[in-house]
Amino acid sequence: MATIVQKYGGTSVADLDRIRKVARRVAQTYDRGHEVVVILSAMAGVTDNLISLASRITTTPERRELDVLLATGEQTTAALMAMTLKAMNYPAESILGHQAQVLTDGDHGNARIIDIGSERIRSLVGDRKIVVVAGFQGSDVNGNITTLGRGGSDTSAVAIAAAIQADVCEIYTDVDGIFTTDPNICPKARKMDRISYDEMLEMASLGAKVLQIRSVEFAKKYSVPVHVRSSFSEEEGTMVVNEEASMEKLVVSGVICDKNQARITLKKVPDQPGVAAKVFAPVAAAGIIVDMIIQNMRSGGQTDLTFTVPMTDFDRAMAIERQVAEEIGAEAVLGDPEIAKVSVVGVGMKNHSGVASLMFTTLAAENINIRLISTSEIRISCVVTEKYAELAVRVLHSAFGLDQTD
Ligand code: ASP
Ligand code: MG
Repeated sequence: MATIVQKYGGTSVADLDRIRKVARRVAQTYDRGHEVVVILSAMAGVTDNLISLASRITTTPERRELDVLLATGEQTTAALMAMTLKAMNYPAESILGHQAQVLTDGDHGNARIIDIGSERIRSLVGDRKIVVVAGFQGSDVNGNITTLGRGGSDTSAVAIAAAIQADVCEIYTDVDGIFTTDPNICPKARKMDRISYDEMLEMASLGAKVLQIRSVEFAKKYSVPVHVRSSFSEEEGTMVVNEEASMEKLVVSGVICDKNQARITLKKVPDQPGVAAKVFAPVAAAGIIVDMIIQNMRSGGQTDLTFTVPMTDFDRAMAIERQVAEEIGAEAVLGDPEIAKVSVVGVGMKNHSGVASLMFTTLAAENINIRLISTSEIRISCVVTEKYAELAVRVLHSAFGLDQTD
């Protein structure tokens, strides 16, 4: 007997038919003698609809009230799932985030989990109940309802799995698992059997949208094995686990493309102490995340500063930098939203050399110009012109031996 947490995303519970299908899978797991805890998202589209309802009342809804509203999406699916299971004669019980003892900070809309008690869930599964928990929500020390940020039910699932010391946290979604790259861009992409937490973290932060990044941080911290798999098939998906020796044989395990980036360059910035701080402090104060930074030396005590920001913050960042340029006496501010960041990721990089050079020569062979470069221990990223990004992904996927062979 194992303790199994199963999380189902919005598309898996999009209507009553699908809820019934999910209930059958839950029941099957239960019939095998396992303890089953089910974490649910809202039905597909519901959270978006609730947000737009609120925005018809005010463009700045109070965050506390918005959380009360958004939490209803998950409350609905939890109740419907428990009813469906009971109609099938299974002993199910639905509980909300605060009843599952999910304690968070008070940062409404983006709350962080501080602690999760295990008593209530443990005692319910001890009575052979199937526990159905509303994901995405918790409550703060004052009992206010909070939500964990978009995609947050992944984090609910992994955190609850950690708290009750489940044997596995299964994340059921509408894809078959984690792929070596986006199959929509590269038809030769393969589903991975296993991937390490660190690789998954890099991939999640680089825009692979399968798991909320915080859920992976949680999984890593508490060593929760996460199984990402499809709710529409019986096939095994991808296990996200601690690093294993065999993983290092592969130099690169995935290629990721993030088109949601824009580049900003300040031309002829005076090369003096404190200038970089003046350029980046106001962007940081505006809550904009700067990713890659590069500084080119020019002659005559001047330098060019280039960096990237998320596309959604591009206009704001440009406005800020135009003002900064005036203050520090830079010559011009240039912006380019038509860029993409292409990255290769793999724990094997830690003890293989030549990864960067293979990446650069592969791109050069296609005449793709590299505009910016950044690296971490297990990742190399290059910024390229957006229209070449998909080609870059395909040639890198093939150069690093990831192409499907059959
Ligand atoms: N329903 C929430 C959202 O749409 C949480 C989730 O689906 O994980 O972001
Ligand atoms: Mg999701």
